[in-house]
Amino acid sequence: MNRFKDYIDAHIKEYPTARYRENEPMSEYTSFRIGGAVPVMFLPDSEGELVSLIRTASRLGVKPLVIGKGTNLLVRDGELSMPVIQTAGLNAVTVFENGELECACGAVLASSATAAMKAGLSGLEFAHGIPGSVGGAVLMNAGAYGGEMKDVVTSVRAICADGDVREFSREDCDFSYRHSRFSDADCVILSAKLKLCAGDVNEIKARMEELSHRRRASQPLNMPSAGSTFKRPVGGYAAALIDEAGLKGFSIGGAQVSEKHAGFVVNKGGATFDDVCRIIEHIQKTVYEASGIELEPEVKIIGR
Ligand SMILES: Cc1cc2nc3c(=O)[nH]c(=O)nc-3n(C[C@H](O)[C@H](O)[C@H](O)COP(=O)(O)OP(=O)(O)OC[C@H]3O[C@@H](n4cnc5c(N)ncnc54)[C@H](O)[C@@H]3O)c2cc1C
Repeated sequence: MNRFKDYIDAHIKEYPTARYRENEPMSEYTSFRIGGAVPVMFLPDSEGELVSLIRTASRLGVKPLVIGKGTNLLVRDGELSMPVIQTAGLNAVTVFENGELECACGAVLASSATAAMKAGLSGLEFAHGIPGSVGGAVLMNAGAYGGEMKDVVTSVRAICADGDVREFSREDCDFSYRHSRFSDADCVILSAKLKLCAGDVNEIKARMEELSHRRRASQPLNMPSAGSTFKRPVGGYAAALIDEAGLKGFSIGGAQVSEKHAGFVVNKGGATFDDVCRIIEHIQKTVYEASGIELEPEVKIIGR
């Protein structure tokens, strides 16, 4: 516990007005509404503060978990032993005249896409309804309706394990389906530059509304979840395989395979980490027996 006190003290020395909360429940920071208490949650307000938090952690031998909007996370219940840094305070979106957008890691995709739309820039419509931050979306190479972050990202600035801030080109980001170099590396994404193209504001807006309508019609957006539970497997769609295995509506404790979209596990009330882990395992086993296809979780499981 002392290491965390040292971490807090060292940070406040650098940033006397730093925002942080001790013994903070992760359930308040995840779209699943699941997760136990972490010893400390830092809420940095600037890139300088985030960089300082990462360097201080490294100096003290502490390994914080960096999160954006917590919309792709399943976090263990009970007392957790890692500090967390939430990036929501770093939310600037800058539009440049050459059609580039620079988004701080904590900027949400919806406001980034809206800023692009208002500037008559097309290309980010696909991301408008993905409820995550730019940092989380770059790490996951988030995508929807035929678009992916890799189509628009030109470069990413990140602080690496050695404490250096580096710029990675799109090629360096090593994007693939729901994966980037940041998925495996000990780097914290600070910001990303996106290249969009000129478009008609009304058409961009209409496309965003159309996609939002499709999302509302097909996804259980009124229930806590972390979106698609599994990655799309080779040879099929997770939701169709789960549905065909007869699992729509199946539940364990408070966790349920959504009746609206079998690709989503939802928290129908009081779901625990264990309920969700058990339902994930049950889905994997049942789908494998029915189809021979292995489902791999897309959701990041923390603390198993
Ligand atoms: C209703 C719903 C619908 C969804 N629809 C889609 C969809 O259509 N397409 C899609 O791809 N996803 C979808 N998702 C999943 C999720 O929104 C995306 O994966 C999103 O990109 C995650 O962003 P986040 O900020 O919430 O990341 P988090 O959940 O906070 O974190 C995800 C991972 O990124 C890491 N991370 C976050 N920020 C940083 C950073 N700055 N530096 C380094 N690592 C970082 C975290 O440590 C974690 O490993 C959906 C989720 C929900 C709840």
